[in-house]
Amino acid sequence: MSPTSPEPKLVRTVAELRASLAGVRRSGGTIGLVPTMGALHEGHLSLVRASKAECDCTVVTIFVNPSQFGPGEDLDAYPRALEADMAALADCGADFVLVPSEGEVYGPDHATWVEVGSVAQPLEGAHRPSHFRGVATVVLKLFNMVGAQVAYFGQKDYQQALVIKRMVADLDVPIEIRVCPIVREPDGLAMSSRNAYLSPDARQRALVLWKSLCLAGELVEQGQRSARAIAEKMRAVIAMAGDAKIDYIALVDPDTLEPVTVVERPTLVAVAVQIDGTRLIDNCLIGDEGLGIRN
Ligand code: AMP
Repeated sequence: MSPTSPEPKLVRTVAELRASLAGVRRSGGTIGLVPTMGALHEGHLSLVRASKAECDCTVVTIFVNPSQFGPGEDLDAYPRALEADMAALADCGADFVLVPSEGEVYGPDHATWVEVGSVAQPLEGAHRPSHFRGVATVVLKLFNMVGAQVAYFGQKDYQQALVIKRMVADLDVPIEIRVCPIVREPDGLAMSSRNAYLSPDARQRALVLWKSLCLAGELVEQGQRSARAIAEKMRAVIAMAGDAKIDYIALVDPDTLEPVTVVERPTLVAVAVQIDGTRLIDNCLIGDEGLGIRN
């Protein structure tokens, strides 16, 4: 920790957070919000740094949101590491960390849910049916709890960022959404709290996600324009990792998430693969001017 940065203040309730932020608000300071589920890694911390660079006060939330997990998913097993998280947040200078209990977020009579339309339906939405309803609801609640002017999300969860942007536009939520680049391990694996589930062997095999995305970029650079041909070659790369179950390989419009058949405009390439039962997602944007990978 840098000698000048004070410890972030850990708060457990919305009332305590609002009281803590009153001074910042009174003085006209900007508040940046970084919503997370904890077990923080450099991907999360990059969002904190982006907020620090732009806002006067940075609030990080750590809440493993039950309503975005489906039956049989990893809610109970999800890694929790508050002590290490607080140390990492002190290092990068977060100001407040809201760690609410489940009861603080969802009262016993909670009965209001946010359903986002078409961008929440394909990809993750198709494989995790109530996932985005849980995400949109908790994120809107966090926006209302914190009252930030800017909120930071990672491109790692590309569809999630799109769902949040749609919600913010449709419901006139007064907040700006920033989407920050995917932070990767040196060998290309996208950082994820779920990587902790991987055995050393599975960790190695998980590289097929990134390799398949790189291949998609290379194929487009070489002139391949058929989304089906690209997806087939990606499938072959992913199949090389034994015990890899592909949930989807998708080439879609980056704004609507509608399938692309001919790659002639910027295209989102997104994959979801279970490696030894650990579900990993990754994506990249192909296109712009040069049809190379942009991340
Ligand atoms: P999570 O704790 O998984 O809910 O993630 C909290 C935020 O961190 C989300 O906006 C994610 O998209 C973002 N995030 C997770 N992993 C990464 C990564 N490798 N690079 C950049 N952002 C990430």
